[in-house]
Amino acid sequence: MRWDNLTTRDDTAATPALFAADAVTTRTFDTPEFRGITFHEIRARSIVNRVPGASRMPFEWTVNPYRGCSHACVYCFARKTHSYLDLDTGIGFDSQIVVKTNAPELLRRELASRRWTGEHIAMGTNVDCYQRAEGRYQLMPGILTALTERANPFSILTKGTLILRDLELLRRASRVTDIGVSVSVGFTDGELWRTVEPGTPSPERRLDVVRTLSSHGIPCGVLMAPVIPFLGDSPEQLRATVRAIAEAGASSVTPLVLHLRPGAREWFTAWLTHHHPRLLRRYDALYEGGSYAPKWYQRRITGMVHDFAAEYGIGPYVSGAHRNVSGKPDARTEEEPDARTDTPPAQLSLL
Ligand code: SF4
Repeated sequence: MRWDNLTTRDDTAATPALFAADAVTTRTFDTPEFRGITFHEIRARSIVNRVPGASRMPFEWTVNPYRGCSHACVYCFARKTHSYLDLDTGIGFDSQIVVKTNAPELLRRELASRRWTGEHIAMGTNVDCYQRAEGRYQLMPGILTALTERANPFSILTKGTLILRDLELLRRASRVTDIGVSVSVGFTDGELWRTVEPGTPSPERRLDVVRTLSSHGIPCGVLMAPVIPFLGDSPEQLRATVRAIAEAGASSVTPLVLHLRPGAREWFTAWLTHHHPRLLRRYDALYEGGSYAPKWYQRRITGMVHDFAAEYGIGPYVSGAHRNVSGKPDARTEEEPDARTDTPPAQLSLL
């Protein structure tokens, strides 16, 4: 394993050293919750990461206390980052979890630096900071406390119900700074959930998180992601999902169509081959030559979701009521910029 191949500033690329190689402790726990998972505890050298200028991410600074994610979503775009450690991007990503055990103390130190100017910090943008490991290592309370002490604005994106453990800390933070919480729910189909997001809490439990946060005065948006072509994109499915999101009291809904970058694409294709082989050709056509579905498809999905959102009374966005993972007001639309074409090819049957 190449601990020296991690970055000091960017968790999504392979550049200079982040960890001291002699500071890695590997543990396994035999409780049902952690069976099959190996934890690599490390003492990181830095924790506030700058997103590279070339990145399409709508935020500049991130904090990621973990690498790898036991939520095990088949489509997860962060899989490729495990290859920088010489770890497997399939099962290895789901079960070999790197834990930066000194994340809270490092963050406190870095926020106190004279060079730090108090910019927005996004969390849960690479891997989920409320994945199962957080139940044991409890890094987020220290991280939230450090941010609150400095009144540093931040946002969290998660699929983890564990965030409710920190409800009081979130309320405290929201009194002194600008915070945004988003929960990711791309669909409510139980069968699809069990196979494509096998380590996550169910969509219903995630929507309970939205309900609870909202009822305690913390506006919570839903990143409706991913919308999975041909499996979760029919008008009926989109309508049911938006209705459930509205009933949970979400402050906004932002649809995002599945993208398949290298690392995730191979794993997703293997899953598709096993579970839905008849769709392989349609996927090849939709994602031909790129990681993103074409614009005409994205616009169609986005348009339908926005129509349903209007019908069920989500939004419109009220200034200050909610900020998305970027720390910017939620635009209610996420369209990938390099999608290739504006018009549907005749041979693709979309819905
Ligand atoms: S919860 Fe997020 S980070 Fe974790 S596997 Fe799923 S998509 Fe990846």
